[in-house]
Amino acid sequence: MGWVVRVAVIGSGVSGLCAARELQREGHRVVVFEKRDRIGGTRAYDPRVESDPLSIDPAREIIHGSLYRNLRTNLPRQLMSFSDYPFLKREGGDPRSFPGHEEVLRFLDRFVRDFGLAELVRVDTEVVRVARVGTRKDEWVVESRTGRSDSVSREVFEAVVVCSGNFVEPEIAAVEGIEKWPGYQIHSHNYRIPEQFRGQVVVIIGYGASAFDISRDISSEAKEVHLAIRKPGVKLGRVENHKNIWHHMMIERVYEDGTVAFQDGFSVCADTILHCTGFKYHYPFLETNGIVTVEENRVGPLYNHVFPPSLAPWLSFIGIPIKGLLFDTMELQSKWIARVLSGKLMLPSEEEMMASTEEFYKKMEENGLPKRSTHFLLFQIGYQNWLCAQLGLPPIEEWKYKMYEESLNNIYEMRDIRYKDQWDDAYWEGIIKDAKSI
Ligand SMILES: Cc1cc2nc3c(=O)[nH]c(=O)nc-3n(C[C@H](O)[C@H](O)[C@H](O)COP(=O)(O)OP(=O)(O)OC[C@H]3O[C@@H](n4cnc5c(N)ncnc54)[C@H](O)[C@@H]3O)c2cc1C
Repeated sequence: MGWVVRVAVIGSGVSGLCAARELQREGHRVVVFEKRDRIGGTRAYDPRVESDPLSIDPAREIIHGSLYRNLRTNLPRQLMSFSDYPFLKREGGDPRSFPGHEEVLRFLDRFVRDFGLAELVRVDTEVVRVARVGTRKDEWVVESRTGRSDSVSREVFEAVVVCSGNFVEPEIAAVEGIEKWPGYQIHSHNYRIPEQFRGQVVVIIGYGASAFDISRDISSEAKEVHLAIRKPGVKLGRVENHKNIWHHMMIERVYEDGTVAFQDGFSVCADTILHCTGFKYHYPFLETNGIVTVEENRVGPLYNHVFPPSLAPWLSFIGIPIKGLLFDTMELQSKWIARVLSGKLMLPSEEEMMASTEEFYKKMEENGLPKRSTHFLLFQIGYQNWLCAQLGLPPIEEWKYKMYEESLNNIYEMRDIRYKDQWDDAYWEGIIKDAKSI
């Protein structure tokens, strides 16, 4: 047995659930705070949208949900499994390789039930403030509010694990002339159904999974869909197999008469601009006296995306990395935190962690990578295996990376979205077999 620590986990999405399971497994005393009325985080579809469709009004009621009605996973279910708890097909469920969001939530609900996690979670309880008590590193006050009550409860924990998610505070693209452009603007955070855009000309800014997916979803109802893409090298013009989707270079500027002009010389009179431009890290409840900051979307300093060196191991973060094998990452990070807290694994000294983190930032700069890509796992292929090594686990199987790459190529090369139906079990078995024979 190691040390038993009283830990507050903030959030019950995939990160918070992994944390709860691993902390419980290590024998820690865990309380999970969840502001929504159910477990599952962003994976629990919420049909409501925010009062400000761009989500920039600070007075708006925040809706923690960015899923849309027709969303299917962008990774196959094998990559949304846990190491000892696979995301299997079930009778009566959605059997597709890339299932709809309801199936992912059912999987998480089973995970919660099978590991008895529900009793650790306080739903409808929002954490409004987390701060150190005095100067001790292992004494944190967590202030929370339940339901609609105004009264705030204060509890003290030795450790806090932040699992509050990254898909709530939108990033909006700057567009020249937008102040006078008369159309409707919305961020993907508030996109739910294509019917809202029936018969419209819609311009979508962005080039990630959401832009790819939403453009295809919306094209079933919109008159025309035009994607404004920053990445060079994308084939411009009308998209093959889609009669009403076009790819363009970025928006040059927009005009008072509703025109949107693209850098490729094309222009349209649009009804809506939809920003699929990602999100900003945001921790409004966390007070660290400037020790942890968010600068150009870098949360730092964090040793390997998890521990702020000077507050480790008592403050930690799960689920910050994006664009990678996220389920594996969240599970491995959770195991790491749980074992460090029980004293079974040691962290380097504060100075060593800081030096390693600074070295990582320096290397990014030398490679011309901006701060905002700090947490992109695409540039840190070895990250999960580094975590595996800390934990004495074998590296991630090669077929997972292969499967990930195959899935991602579809998105970044903006291929025909029908791959989601064409890539069945037989297709994946081929990929797995090939990867195992390398
Ligand atoms: C549109 C979309 C599609 C995606 N598709 C995929 C996919 O196909 N495959 C994949 O692997 N990943 C996908 N992702 C990424 C996916 O969201 C993550 O893999 C994972 O669900 C994130 O889990 P999380 O627990 O870190 O955060 P979240 O799911 O956001 O959970 C955070 C939780 O914290 C709670 N919370 C926040 N603040 C507080 C507070 N102050 N007090 C109490 N509770 C709080 C929230 O209510 C929420 O329940 C997608 C993301 C989006 C937005």
